[in-house]
Amino acid sequence: MFPHSIKANSVPVIVLRYCLSCLLLLVCGGAFAAEPLALDANVGRVSLDSHVAYLEDPTLQLTLEQIRAPDRQWADNGSDVLNKSYSDSAWWVHLRIVNPLPDEQSRLIEISYAVLDYIDLYVVSGDEVVHQYQMGDKLPYRERLFDHRFFVIPLDWQPRQTLDVYLRVRTSSSVQVPLTLWQDDEFFGFDTTRTILQGIFFGTMLVIAVYNLLIYFVLGERTYILYVGYVLCMPAFLASLGGHTFRYFWPTLTEWNDESIIVFLAGVVIFAATFTRRFLDLRSFNRGLDIALIITAVAGGVMVLTAFVLPYRYNIRTLIPLAAAGCIICFFAGIYCWYRHQETAKYYTIAWGCMLSGGLILALNKYDLIPANIFTEYATHIGSSLEVVLLSFALAERINAERRLRFEAQAQALKTTQRMNEELEGRVQERTRELEALTLRLRELSNTDALTGLHNRRFLDNQLREEWERCRRYKRCLAVILLDIDHFKQVNDLHGHQSGDECLFEVAQRVQQGLRWPADQAARYGGEEFCIVLPETALEGAVTVAERIRQLIEDLPVDTATGPLRITVSAGVCALVPDSGTSINELLKNADQALYRAKEAGRNRVLSHQN
Ligand code: GH3
Ligand code: MG
Ligand code: MG
Repeated sequence: MFPHSIKANSVPVIVLRYCLSCLLLLVCGGAFAAEPLALDANVGRVSLDSHVAYLEDPTLQLTLEQIRAPDRQWADNGSDVLNKSYSDSAWWVHLRIVNPLPDEQSRLIEISYAVLDYIDLYVVSGDEVVHQYQMGDKLPYRERLFDHRFFVIPLDWQPRQTLDVYLRVRTSSSVQVPLTLWQDDEFFGFDTTRTILQGIFFGTMLVIAVYNLLIYFVLGERTYILYVGYVLCMPAFLASLGGHTFRYFWPTLTEWNDESIIVFLAGVVIFAATFTRRFLDLRSFNRGLDIALIITAVAGGVMVLTAFVLPYRYNIRTLIPLAAAGCIICFFAGIYCWYRHQETAKYYTIAWGCMLSGGLILALNKYDLIPANIFTEYATHIGSSLEVVLLSFALAERINAERRLRFEAQAQALKTTQRMNEELEGRVQERTRELEALTLRLRELSNTDALTGLHNRRFLDNQLREEWERCRRYKRCLAVILLDIDHFKQVNDLHGHQSGDECLFEVAQRVQQGLRWPADQAARYGGEEFCIVLPETALEGAVTVAERIRQLIEDLPVDTATGPLRITVSAGVCALVPDSGTSINELLKNADQALYRAKEAGRNRVLSHQN
């Protein structure tokens, strides 16, 4: 993720190099020129780094002549790529290459760092400047000597000729001059492989971006669009840094070429931070890390703006530590959430680890701790490809996990709803039963006479209407008996209300006792008056029932608190077959008249209505 420059700031390396330079100066006691390189027809590729001598010109004033002065003290570069980090000085680089062979030789010198601003090239043979070129990404691409995203210099040697190659480098990027000497075939072979690998890399990233963009359109899940942003910014940044975009997209926009590196790297920071927050759901896991990433993203946003305002060297020097910090926070957040059992944090951390390993391999390669080859050189690309593939997988897994959780939650909710419904149903049934019982009880109460326990008049009226209708329909006889206690007023007067009530209760019992058929209904009709409805009963039968009841009452004295009381009743009976010419009132009136006559006739008797 980092341009090659950051490691150059490493303190031990700088100190070590400084000490070595001093030591060498002491030993040599004056001007120092690196070992000249002899061309070898059998070697296709030579790294020139260890053959480089360099010179700093902080004044920016030195001319070729001045730097070629014999007393000029050059420093040996050692075996690493010449790397002077960010510097406002001009840097002179010297290479002496000899052709010891008897025939003419041609080679390519490649400076494989695409973002150097200005490179002045002088090729000197003896004391004569044989070639002089200007290169750098501050010049339009078409002015290049050789059509390549890096800076490539074709050189020819006469037999036994020595060429001194001087490069004057001035750049707002880090001062890195990785130099390689190539035989043409070897260069084109290597470059093809490199281009294919890079094509695979950019292609992969593009496909993943498009794929995830489509998923975003389908699911509408914002994490995907953040991820797409990251997947697009990362290769865009690497393509800008590698000179691809300058070559293919904006070969004349030299200012934007610098700015684009800042914008894309800031984009990487913004999208990586916001994607990580959302993907890991950091807000619920660790507020501190979440805020750190918000700050990182905001700072990235500010950098996008400053890219167009401040000089490149300030921007890049701020942005690289920001990117490094963001990277570490993201990685740490992944580990933290993994530790806290966030389901998909594992994949995220491994993915991020791949990317970091790529960076680490590149760094180790640059420090010569592992051998340089095309895989270590492009470890960052490989690492970030692996990263985005793994992240894609992690995203899918996350959606899967969420869906799983949603299904579980739905199933759980369904179960709970079912249980609640069952409970509710049970409770409703219980309440319904209670209500039914209560209603029944209320109906009974509303139909029952409290003192005697017999039905009351209201019930009897209803009953009478029903029976009347039924008997009318089937043309059956309906009979009623009206029954009244004789001289009951006296009972009350002589023995008290209490005894009167006891008598009423006992008479009711005997009335009930006198009924044999379930269809017959007795009710307390008034104060000491009872009414009995006898469906499908003719007058004769009704008189028999009335007589039976009268007898039952007369036969046995009623036990009361004030002693046994002898009481009698009189009854009037009426029976008729209901039809349109008769009415319930008539039936009752007739029975009442019969009762009246029974009273008149001396009481304690049953008289029937004679039509
Ligand atoms: P008869 O019917 O034989 O002509 O004489 P009676 O004394 O029964 O006459 P009446 O029907 O006029 O008297 C009804 C009496 O019944 C009046 C009241 O004192 C008594 N009575 C009515 N309801 C109740 C009751 O609920 N409890 C008691 N203890 N007495 C009642
Ligand atoms: Mg009466
Ligand atoms: Mg009476």
